[in-house]
Amino acid sequence: MSVSAPTPVRRRRTGHATLPVVEIFGPTVQGEGPDAGLPAYFVRFGGCDWRCEWCDSMHAVDPVEVRASAERLTAGEIAARIRSLPPGPGIVVLTGGNPALHDLADVVAELKAGGLRVAVETQGSRWKPWLADVDRLVISPKPPSSGMATAKNEAALRAFIARAGAIPTGCAVLKIVVFDELDLDWAAARHRDHPTLELFLSAGTDVGLDEDATVARLRDRYRWLCEAVSCRPGLARARVLPQLHVIAWGTAKGV
Ligand code: SF4
Repeated sequence: MSVSAPTPVRRRRTGHATLPVVEIFGPTVQGEGPDAGLPAYFVRFGGCDWRCEWCDSMHAVDPVEVRASAERLTAGEIAARIRSLPPGPGIVVLTGGNPALHDLADVVAELKAGGLRVAVETQGSRWKPWLADVDRLVISPKPPSSGMATAKNEAALRAFIARAGAIPTGCAVLKIVVFDELDLDWAAARHRDHPTLELFLSAGTDVGLDEDATVARLRDRYRWLCEAVSCRPGLARARVLPQLHVIAWGTAKGV
């Protein structure tokens, strides 16, 4: 599968730019990272510049699937869809794919004007100025098991984090999914590289299994990760979590 170029900006006749939206859902809870357990809405944008071996969101990555299923919505329409969902959460998570492929400045402004906090999850491959305006920036680079931990991508991550350094302390964090010892070594190295960013580790979820097997594997990996991290002085400040949404809903979409 080829890696797609950033999605070109498309506009309505009114002049409003539209964005490829694969899913809008909630209320649910955030399953990982610094806001784990917090009620949240999610907006998933189509398109990604990476192809991770274990990606669980290929419907937002594969250009054919994205073209077939994504709706083109303006920032105002996205905010209206969120407002039409049942009330509850105070935060909207912008995810993908890689949401940083798109210009989401108007989306962030519309959601904040409606009184919601905005979080973004991105692998940290492309900086966009609007990322400086969000309430939570979760930088989620992928470890060796993804097949994407190349020298080029690590250089892009360093450049991204240098830009993110200008935003308020505590807003930006590192979240790394870990499947094995090699991934954990890699996460520890990124923690050494970027000590000012709080580190959240997530036990990775296997794809392609039935729900019971998926949850059982996740529990085993989480136990291994807890034990491994607790014996590494260099990770004494890291927080270790399973992917909570998988425990609750398996790998179902839209929750
Ligand atoms: S960066 Fe995220 S969305 Fe993109 S391929 Fe990797 S896991 Fe999937």
